[in-house]
Amino acid sequence: MTEHLDIDGSRGEGGGQILRTSLALSMLTGKSFAMRNIRANRAKPGLRRQHATAVDAAARLCDATVHGAKVDSRYIEFTPGTITGGDFLVDIGSAGSTTLVVQTLLVPAIASGKPLRATIRGGTHNPMAPPFEFLERVYLPQLRAMGADVSITLDQHGFVDSAGPLGQLTLDVRAGGALRPIELVNAGELVECRATAVLSRLPTHIGDRELAVVRERIAEPLSCTLSEVRGGGTANVLFIEIERTSSFELVTGFGERGLRAETVAERACDEAAAFLAANVPVGEHLADQLLLPLAVAGGGRFRCAPLSLHATTNIETIGLFLDLPIRVEPDGDAVLVTVG
Ligand code: ATP
Repeated sequence: MTEHLDIDGSRGEGGGQILRTSLALSMLTGKSFAMRNIRANRAKPGLRRQHATAVDAAARLCDATVHGAKVDSRYIEFTPGTITGGDFLVDIGSAGSTTLVVQTLLVPAIASGKPLRATIRGGTHNPMAPPFEFLERVYLPQLRAMGADVSITLDQHGFVDSAGPLGQLTLDVRAGGALRPIELVNAGELVECRATAVLSRLPTHIGDRELAVVRERIAEPLSCTLSEVRGGGTANVLFIEIERTSSFELVTGFGERGLRAETVAERACDEAAAFLAANVPVGEHLADQLLLPLAVAGGGRFRCAPLSLHATTNIETIGLFLDLPIRVEPDGDAVLVTVG
């Protein structure tokens, strides 16, 4: 008989990551699960559209049987079939995060060895989720270094404030890639920082003021670019990329109605400065996102700042499905995370 897990979604951080990681590992291990108290610690608990869509997309990827995957539901049951891959459209139907749906499908698709093309409609630049560029420039390169043959394209920007069409991205996983352990221990020497202020239907002075703050705060070598895009609504995102000889990080500041451009830039600069000072190769978000592929690869190691609650909850969730040690040891002001 296949193994079944009863998972309390309120564990640790009690957010949506427990669900996404459980879906991915259920698909890969064949273990079915029931989850109660889904997103219990969030202001609006239960499945939002983005999470219900992730469950549907996972079910399509592996021909699963599902109960309870409706918006607002706090309980689901998921019994996976076999991962088939395929070519499908996933429409969140709102500006919910497409990149978090990617987080659900990507590692199972790679590890199955089956080709997948998933076109996902929704938000592509949502606060509290990886922006498209983070997946493209930070996360996917690590998966390629692990052996995956994977790419992602931005078809249309989609912002939370969208009045018009939703955003869209397309994920391509080609057959045959597998995941091998990697080590990310040294940050390397600084090559360059690049700041990009992205504006959709907003005056250019917003981007100019953000980049002025970045020029004041971030030392040379630095390049600054203003990029005007046409998303559905008004939006502003500030990226600061940090390229070092052995690592790459992308910090994001999200503009908000009523928040001064200078404040958006100061916050992003604070995060970039803290990352530069920590002298680690892996930032806060990459740390929690690397855990799943490394666990599926059966090993690996990375150095980062002390883990977020998000990452420690992810380690606990992985431990429910896989019998694999994940050790976190202090290393000066940083920590060394060893998988396997
Ligand atoms: P929800 O319950 O709403 O689904 P959650 O608990 O899953 O939320 P978060 O803790 O906000 O959501 O994290 C979602 C994912 O998005 C995590 O993997 C996190 O690392 C990633 N993430 C959040 N912000 C960024 C960012 N600026 N850059 C890269 N990744 C990010």
